[in-house]
Amino acid sequence: MTLKVFNTLTRKKEKFVPMHGKKVNMFVCGPTVYDYSHLGHAKTYVQFDIIVRYLRFRGFRVFYLQNITDLDDKIIKRAKENNETPKSLARRFEEEYYKDMKALGITSVDKYARATDYIKAIIKQVKALLEKGYAYEIEDGIYYDLSKFKDYGKLSRRTTLEAEDAVTRIDDNINKRNKGDFCLWKKSKPDEPKWDSPWFKGRPGWHIEDTAITESHFGPQYDIHGGARDLIFPHHEAEIAQMEAKSGKKPFVKYWLHTGFLTVEGRKMAKSLGNFITLRDALKKHDTETIRFFFASTHYRNPIDFSQENLEQSKKSLDRLYITLENVHFMRTVKKKTPQEKQFEMKLQKYKEKFITAMDDDFNTREALKVIFKMSNEVNKFISRRKELSKGLKEKILSTFKELGIIFGILQKKIKKEKLTKDVEKLIKERENARKNKNWKTADAIREKLNKMGILLEDTPEGIKWKIKRK
Ligand SMILES: [Zn+2]
Repeated sequence: MTLKVFNTLTRKKEKFVPMHGKKVNMFVCGPTVYDYSHLGHAKTYVQFDIIVRYLRFRGFRVFYLQNITDLDDKIIKRAKENNETPKSLARRFEEEYYKDMKALGITSVDKYARATDYIKAIIKQVKALLEKGYAYEIEDGIYYDLSKFKDYGKLSRRTTLEAEDAVTRIDDNINKRNKGDFCLWKKSKPDEPKWDSPWFKGRPGWHIEDTAITESHFGPQYDIHGGARDLIFPHHEAEIAQMEAKSGKKPFVKYWLHTGFLTVEGRKMAKSLGNFITLRDALKKHDTETIRFFFASTHYRNPIDFSQENLEQSKKSLDRLYITLENVHFMRTVKKKTPQEKQFEMKLQKYKEKFITAMDDDFNTREALKVIFKMSNEVNKFISRRKELSKGLKEKILSTFKELGIIFGILQKKIKKEKLTKDVEKLIKERENARKNKNWKTADAIREKLNKMGILLEDTPEGIKWKIKRK
């Protein structure tokens, strides 16, 4: 079994072979910290979290790096509106970002690198690009000369902007040599943050922080660069132009991975449309596992639609898996494993292999989830014919679900025996008495009452069974 990934650079699924054995250096574009994270961020970061967890599950030693853009035009603008310094705004929302990621269960990132901690490295790159003739100075900044880099456009297969591109700023100046030339080092206005440089007091351009950060940690070449697909052009294209021109080495990044868009109730999420949802608002209504399940239910490259209905569907599906786990967990346990149980254990192993085959196909989480559901059905079928399970098989079933679930960040909750309140116990007794006295009307009324209280009753040959309805 070999892992294959879809590489935006070649538009092909390729065998995944890192540059240095099992070591994988990976970088994903992080947030610009001027506001709370929204659902689009949540999608990207959960899907890359799953990718990294899976790579580690497959034995790769991943170093996962993310940048924090703590200075740019949006931060400066918002800080002015708030009457605070860009730094205090950025630090505050950086902290909020970490809280959001924690709430989402993002555990895979090894290092968050702040742009303003890499000013020296940024200046070094700009200097090298000037010396090699890839950059030029005009009155308001140092610009990249796109006519000098013949490979420009190789990632996106175009050289001009389109409607879906993320554009955080357009570096416009009539004295630029080419229309698309972007700023590497920008002259700061009097009230803007500034750093000394060999040219003038200024601040970094839009794209240079990423290459300065990755070169500092990984050198001029590394394995995986990820991000949302609206960053392909011009942002990632510009990164290639900067780094390959500076180092003379190709490729700058071996595999480029991009996530699909998120819509809300079928429409693009935008403040102007009134359907803009922050992650923390979403987490008030849905728990972390439900949101992660929802993101895992679609392939990372595909678009996904966030709607109440889709989220409720995710919750129901996840509940079905938990019911299987409860059924197994509360079965009577015996010591000895039967031959049928040994056979069933081999079946579990087969499902695990199918799961790996699905995930090896460009991290196909959707197919991998289907395998987990098939395994769940199979387990239910097996235990429905039995009154007891051996300790060994019980543990094997539960640990298999946990082991595969943790890659998506689901099925990790403790299974607790649910307890009834005194009132409910009393009602159940009353109903039993009513049934004994063949007072069906009262029995039915109590059943209905319990149902409204969230208690489901089931009359079985062994007696009455109850279940608490999930929220
Ligand atoms: Zn970036």
